[in-house]
Amino acid sequence: MKILKTIAEMYAERDLCRAEGKRIGFVPTMGFLHNGHLSLVDQCRKENDVTVVSVFVNPTQFGPGEDFDSYPRDIDADTRMLRERGVDILFFPDRGQLYPEGYHTYVEVEELDKGLCGSSRPSHFRGVTTIVLKLLNIVGATRAYFGRKDAQQAVIIKKMVQDLNMESEIRALPIVRDSDGLALSSRNSYLSPEQRAAALCFPRALMQAKQEIQSGLRDTAAVIKRIEAVIADNPLVQVDYISVVSLDRLQPLAVVDLNNTLVAGAVWVGKTRLIDNFILGEF
Ligand code: AMP
Repeated sequence: MKILKTIAEMYAERDLCRAEGKRIGFVPTMGFLHNGHLSLVDQCRKENDVTVVSVFVNPTQFGPGEDFDSYPRDIDADTRMLRERGVDILFFPDRGQLYPEGYHTYVEVEELDKGLCGSSRPSHFRGVTTIVLKLLNIVGATRAYFGRKDAQQAVIIKKMVQDLNMESEIRALPIVRDSDGLALSSRNSYLSPEQRAAALCFPRALMQAKQEIQSGLRDTAAVIKRIEAVIADNPLVQVDYISVVSLDRLQPLAVVDLNNTLVAGAVWVGKTRLIDNFILGEF
């Protein structure tokens, strides 16, 4: 596995791949890798000739007072995992490479970034779209792989790529969970054993709601109420938001559409914010 730290080195590898007609698959991450990330890597390897993974904790997607400084980092463990998984290139740039002195350009996907996580993290998606656009350009990705755990992010990135006539194909893959049901996240490492046990009410509430929808519940206000009620039983967990929106446009729905619905939420467990969701329909 090659480890590249500069954009110039990445360009050189990209140009070589292109000259040889190789398809470049790309998995952008913030590191502290787990099986959710690795599921994207595995799929990427299957569908492309060369697999590039980036590890970069992107400062512009963290708001003031958020966890940029304390975000977990372990590049040695990440490197080992990616090498074992057969990744070809690890792109591990520093901040100065991506945001040099005098950096001033940002990309915004309007409307889609307002609700859901956008309400509690107002500048988050502007940071995400900006870094993803930069990385897709630098890596020269034929395809790029994202997780449905960050469903709003995947919808926004697909829209950006469409609206800006970018050539990368965006793939959004299923959520990988721990055996107890909690969606894997680098931020789970913040949780004490007690908090982790409490956090399980979140995926449980979503799973129950999904079953109730499958049994005929359609009123989205009732769906939200039921999810909130299951979580409210647990004093260590506070709801940030629970929303039911259309999957394509992220607009609030009054009635569940079995072919186009995203039920998504975020909760606080102490100082840790966790997100999770389920989707009805095709992503
Ligand atoms: P992050 O390092 O948290 O920025 O995540 C990098 C990519 O991995 C994003 O596209 C995430 O949606 C995806 N991802 C994170 N956790 C999971 C998970 N549990 N299952 C599937 N994909 C995930």
